[in-house]
Amino acid sequence: MGSYAVNKDACMGCGACMSVCPMGAVSEAGGAYLIDATKCIGCGACANLCPVGAVSVE
Ligand code: SF4
Ligand code: SF4
Repeated sequence: MGSYAVNKDACMGCGACMSVCPMGAVSEAGGAYLIDATKCIGCGACANLCPVGAVSVE
């Protein structure tokens, strides 16, 4: 299983991924969303919810 990551060029900053994450793995700083790989359990909820497909497994 790869790690989930936000493509900052595709992300429109809606914050849905941060809201849905059960692990609190998504943080935001200055409008940029970041997934902490040490907290992420790879559930895929953020990727499924993202309206622009900006979260992917690398
Ligand atoms: S895959 Fe799941 S645990 Fe990982 S950042 Fe997305 S919602 Fe959170
Ligand atoms: S759900 Fe997608 S568009 Fe919204 S903040 Fe997260 S990565 Fe960006």
